[in-house]
Amino acid sequence: MENSLKTLLRKHNVSLKKAYGQNFLTDSALLDEIVEKAGVESCDTVLEIGCGAGALTRAIAKKAKRVIGYEIDTSLKPVLSDVLSEYKNVEIIFGDIMKQKMADVEKKLGGKYIMVANLPYYITTPIIMQFIENAKNLSAMVIMVQEEVAYRLASKESTSDYGAITVGINLRGEAQVVLKVGREKFSPPPNVDSAVVKIVINHDKFKSVDMTAVRNIVRIAFSSRRKMLINNIMNGFKLSREVVEKLLTDSNISLTARGENLTAKDYVCLCETMKKAGVIQ
Ligand code: SAM
Repeated sequence: MENSLKTLLRKHNVSLKKAYGQNFLTDSALLDEIVEKAGVESCDTVLEIGCGAGALTRAIAKKAKRVIGYEIDTSLKPVLSDVLSEYKNVEIIFGDIMKQKMADVEKKLGGKYIMVANLPYYITTPIIMQFIENAKNLSAMVIMVQEEVAYRLASKESTSDYGAITVGINLRGEAQVVLKVGREKFSPPPNVDSAVVKIVINHDKFKSVDMTAVRNIVRIAFSSRRKMLINNIMNGFKLSREVVEKLLTDSNISLTARGENLTAKDYVCLCETMKKAGVIQ
């Protein structure tokens, strides 16, 4: 383990917990680069999820107006107090982010904010979807994820990486891989390489659309990836082949398409056609 981190943890008698995905970053140039990619400025409020030993928190605090951090592991309290002692613009909340109500988190943040997170891999997808679907004031998410997940999030339609989560993101914004980070940059190093993804949120995108209905269609379209869309829609909505053929034709979607061939806009269009035809509410 990197020496200064080892000394810090030893000073406070803290050992790292694998179960919480505690692979920490120590390279200050890399930490500054993540903050720069996030576009954090002196007027910004930042939500950090998983503060760990506070290295990324400190890099954000140097640039942002305010940082609200969540950390599940209370044994890191003395470490974080030590590392962040000179930053009065940081508040750490000890708790499981997955158990917080979105309204409470956003009330704490007070207005528009950027999320920056080096996420434990096991909560990557739920966190992203929770914030994409429910956050009201989030302007961008800059998150470190496993490299293969990063490419999935930012993939284009008709590629093998493209999936329901990609469409979910594209319904609210756009994702881009902004930085690759090798496993050796973490302490201790995980078994995989990582990458930082930036998702810029556009709350006006498909604003007047019934998102719950669109997301349900997306879920059904990807329910069996090997099947054609027509079959997944027939099975998922209990509709006849003839009806679904007409729905797809009216939406300008090929009868041989699979879920992965449709853009977010195609899904919105299909949803509107299904509503007009009265096959969904
Ligand atoms: N931000 C630090 C860094 O970049 O070095 C630590 C990143 S480490 C990959 C992930 C951190 O998230 C750990 O400190 C872990 O304890 C914390 N964590 C894991 N699950 C969490 C949860 N459900 N809510 C809040 N924090 C969590």
